[in-house]
Amino acid sequence: MRVTWTAGEPERADGAGEGGAERVWRLVFQLDPEDATSGACTDGQRMELRTNSCQVRLPPAAGAYGDEVHPDLLAVAAWTLAAPWTRRRVTFDRPISGELAEAIQDGWGVEAGPVGARPRSGTRLAISYSGGADSVAVAAILPDAPLVHFQRISHPRVPNRWTHYRSDVLARLAARTGRELTVVRSDLEFLLAYPRPGYAEHHAVAAGALLLADELDLGGIAMGYELGSRWLGGDRYVHRYTPDNPMWAPHGKWGRLFSAAGLPVVLPVGGVSEAVTMRVALESELRDLVRWCLRGSGDGPCGTCGKCLYKELIQAAVERRPLSTAVTASGAVARKWQEPPPYGGQEMIEYGCARVPGIESTPFARAAGHLRPTEESTRWLDHCYPPALDEIPEPWRGRVAAYMDGVGLMTPDESARVENWGTR
Ligand SMILES: [Zn+2]
Repeated sequence: MRVTWTAGEPERADGAGEGGAERVWRLVFQLDPEDATSGACTDGQRMELRTNSCQVRLPPAAGAYGDEVHPDLLAVAAWTLAAPWTRRRVTFDRPISGELAEAIQDGWGVEAGPVGARPRSGTRLAISYSGGADSVAVAAILPDAPLVHFQRISHPRVPNRWTHYRSDVLARLAARTGRELTVVRSDLEFLLAYPRPGYAEHHAVAAGALLLADELDLGGIAMGYELGSRWLGGDRYVHRYTPDNPMWAPHGKWGRLFSAAGLPVVLPVGGVSEAVTMRVALESELRDLVRWCLRGSGDGPCGTCGKCLYKELIQAAVERRPLSTAVTASGAVARKWQEPPPYGGQEMIEYGCARVPGIESTPFARAAGHLRPTEESTRWLDHCYPPALDEIPEPWRGRVAAYMDGVGLMTPDESARVENWGTR
C-alpha cells in the first residue's frame, strides 16, 4: 500500500465554494500487488473498497498548514482507511517515527515506513463529538474540552444513495452547543462499496482530529465508547467479556497506534453503560441537542429506525415510563427482537426489559420472555466498572474518577457481572 496526502483546494465537482476557504487534505492510496479490494475491519465486518481517494476538509485557520502536520498524524489518519486492504507493507509519503512503525508492525504484521521522524506529543484533550447520548455524556463530564465533529459529505465520484442521512442536521446541533467546536467534513465513508458507506475502521471518525492535533495542541482524543463497546464485545464483535478488545483497550493494536502518535484514545464513559450515559446526557445542559439518529430532520429523530427503537428502550427505562414507539413487533426493524438471544447490546435489552412498564405489549416482549431480567440482575449497569478508570491517562483520570464517584462504582459482585459476561 502506498499512501499520499496532498494539501490543496477542494475539487470543483464537490461543492467547492460552499466551504469558502476550507483547507482540504486529499488522500490517495495505491494498492500493492499483494493487497486486496476486499477485507475485514478489526471488528470482523467484511467490506469492499469502492475507490482509492477521499478528502478531509478543515475549517480555515489563522496559521499555515501542509507540512506542519506531524507525519505520524497523517499516517494514522490514513491507516484508519487503508488497514483493511493492506497485506504486507505500507509506504507513507513522509517519514514516520520508529514508534509508529513498530505499532503497525506489532498490531498488523505490516511493515511500515519510511522511518525518520521524532515522536510527537500534545497536551489538550478533545472530544470526538457525534451528538449521540454517549458523546454528549462525555461532553458533560469534561465541560471545557473542545469538540471535534465529523460531518459526512458526498464524494465527487460516488453516487450518494444515502441522502436520507442528514449529517447537516447533526452538524447544526453540534454548533448549538456553544462549545469550542471544529466541524470536519469528509467523504471518506464513500471509500466503502460494501456493506454501505461508513468508516473503514471505527477510528476513521478521528481523521479530522488527527489532522488538527498539532494545531489544537491535542494530547488525547476522547470518544463516547461505553461499557458495552469497551468491555462486553460491543455490537457486532464477539459477545463476551473482552479486556483485550483490539479496538478500544489501550494495550490493543489501535490503542497503541494512537498513543504512538501522541494522541491516545480516552474513554471517559468506558466504565458505564448506555443507561448511565443516557441519564448523564439527559440531565446535562445539552439535553435538547442529543441526537442518535442520522435520519431525522431538524424537527427530531425519525422514530422508526432500529437505532431509535433501541435508544427509546433505554430512555424509557431511565425515565421509568412506558415505551413510546410506532414500531410494531411485526415490522422489519423489530425482527431481530423476535428471535432468541444473543442480541447486540444485550445488556441494555435486559436493562430496559427489567424496567419499562408494560414491556409485554412492546416489540421487546419476546426478548423479555427469553431473558427474564430483573432490576436486581441489571443493577450493575447503573454503576462504573473501576478498571475502566485505570485506563484513562493520568492527566484526565482524576476528573473522570471524581465524576464517577458521583455515579457510584461497581461492587466486586457487580464487577464480576462484567467479567463473566457471555461465559454463563
Ligand atoms: Zn431513527
